[in-house]
Amino acid sequence: MQILTTAAGLQAHTESARQAGRRIGLVPTMGALHAGHLQLVQAARAECDEVIATIFVNPTQFNNAEDFRLYPRVPDADAVLLAPAGCTALFAPSVEEMYPQPTVLRFDFGDLERVMEGAHRPGHFNGVATVVSKLFHLARPHRAYFGQKDWQQVAVVRQLVADLSFDLEIVARPTIREADGLAMSSRNRRLDAPARAAAPLLYQVLTAAAEQVQQGLSPLQVQAQAEAALAAEPLLTPEYFAVADAQTLQPLAAYVPGRAVVLCLAAHLGGVRLIDNVVVER
Ligand code: AMP
Repeated sequence: MQILTTAAGLQAHTESARQAGRRIGLVPTMGALHAGHLQLVQAARAECDEVIATIFVNPTQFNNAEDFRLYPRVPDADAVLLAPAGCTALFAPSVEEMYPQPTVLRFDFGDLERVMEGAHRPGHFNGVATVVSKLFHLARPHRAYFGQKDWQQVAVVRQLVADLSFDLEIVARPTIREADGLAMSSRNRRLDAPARAAAPLLYQVLTAAAEQVQQGLSPLQVQAQAEAALAAEPLLTPEYFAVADAQTLQPLAAYVPGRAVVLCLAAHLGGVRLIDNVVVER
């Protein structure tokens, strides 16, 4: 596995792969890798010849300086995990390499980002779209792999690809969970023992809510019950719980026959912000 740290190095590497007729898969990450990331690498391995994983804790997508500072960084351990999963090159640039000058361009995804993560983390999706666009331009992948754990991010990236005519396919893969249901996340490393013990509640609330959607409880009722269940855990500070259309992400007043519903939540647990979601096909 080659390790690349410069934009020019990444461009040269992927250009020569493309010239050789190799299909390129891109897996953008912020590192502190776990099985959720590695399944993206494995999926890329199965479908592409060249698998580029990127590790970059992107400052422009953090609206909270403390969250950026405390974000886990374990580059040596990450590098060890990537090669066996099928990664052929790792791109791990510095902040200066990715942002030689501050960006002026700003993205606005309209209604797609006026809800949930976009509403609660101002500027977050501008930062995501900026770094993802840079990576797409540098690596020019045939496919790029993302996790449904970040459901709204996938929707925003699909919109980015459509609006700017990026010539690539977005592949979304399911959320990988711990045995007790907690969605794997790099931030889970920061949970202390009591917070980690309480964390499975997030997925329990989501699965209970999904059952209620199936049973036909109204979106308002589902939301109220979920919020009550989250509020009952003293270690947890809920940020939002949304019952939304799975494609438009807009909150639902009533279900629309034939349209999938996504249940999304964000909560703070012992100083760590976690998100999760579940999709209900209807
Ligand atoms: P991150 O390093 O958190 O920015 O995540 C990098 C990519 O891995 C994103 O596309 C995430 O959606 C995806 N990802 C993170 N956690 C999981 C998980 N538990 N299951 C599936 N994909 C994940």
